[in-house]
Amino acid sequence: MTVLEVENLKKIYRPRFGGNQVQALSKVTFSVEEGEYVAIMGESGSGKTTLLNMLAALDKPTEGEVYLDGKPLSAIREKDLSKFRRDHLGFVFQDFNLLDTFNLKDNILLPLVLQGVDYRKMNVRMMPIVKELGIAGLLEKYPYEVSGGQKQRLCIAAVARALITDPRLILADEPTGALDSKSTDELLGVFERINQSGQTILMVTHSVKAASKAGRVLFIKDGEVFHQVYKGEQTDEQFYQNISATLTMLATGGERQ
Ligand code: ADP
Ligand code: MG
Repeated sequence: MTVLEVENLKKIYRPRFGGNQVQALSKVTFSVEEGEYVAIMGESGSGKTTLLNMLAALDKPTEGEVYLDGKPLSAIREKDLSKFRRDHLGFVFQDFNLLDTFNLKDNILLPLVLQGVDYRKMNVRMMPIVKELGIAGLLEKYPYEVSGGQKQRLCIAAVARALITDPRLILADEPTGALDSKSTDELLGVFERINQSGQTILMVTHSVKAASKAGRVLFIKDGEVFHQVYKGEQTDEQFYQNISATLTMLATGGERQ
């Protein structure tokens, strides 16, 4: 089953006060099947965040359409957009966006609070997730109380918050961008596990290592999906080499495939 369909997406930013317009996306088309783990790579400024913003209905495309479970996002009324995001999507951003005035538990439960879920049901929903992710012992801590060596737990709390509503799709924008290599491994391990249990993930990343854990990598260049590679039977190492070679090929102006 297709979870996400992106059709001929184009985005032109028009400055309000003069200046040149920027074409961030020219014609992006791809789809994501249920249970897939897809990475998106591309040079800085190639339109990755712009694309994620369209997928999350945080911004509107100039042309084209995004469908989630066959439903066009353009058909969602403005006043229903935040509810739509809360009910169907999970977000993991580079800075995690955890609220310092809430402990980790309340941060993780926040989407359910906004959904108006009964308090007892919230805990029933949360416990298996935090146990699985290994942060059950940190729930009472505030983000600033989580000490140096456990900082990666904050991004894992952000993953727990993204998972708590059982979203159709997790969208991640450079989730490992601010992490050291040990924390990166831990976060990637979590993404792999939740994907293995069926969660569909779309992750923008600069990291070849992160991308090599995905099942497919899309390469964006000049506002289009220029190329894609599937992991198939390749090991992480083989896929890593394959992705590196593709990036080199793209950077040196290789032919479109
Ligand atoms: P990436 O995430 O791949 O680095 P972005 O999607 O952030 O790329 O940006 C793509 C292009 O669009 C860049 O040239 C950037 O300067 C431009 N851009 C991004 N957001 C805006 C905006 N809100 N207004 C104008 N230009 C923008
Ligand atoms: Mg970006």
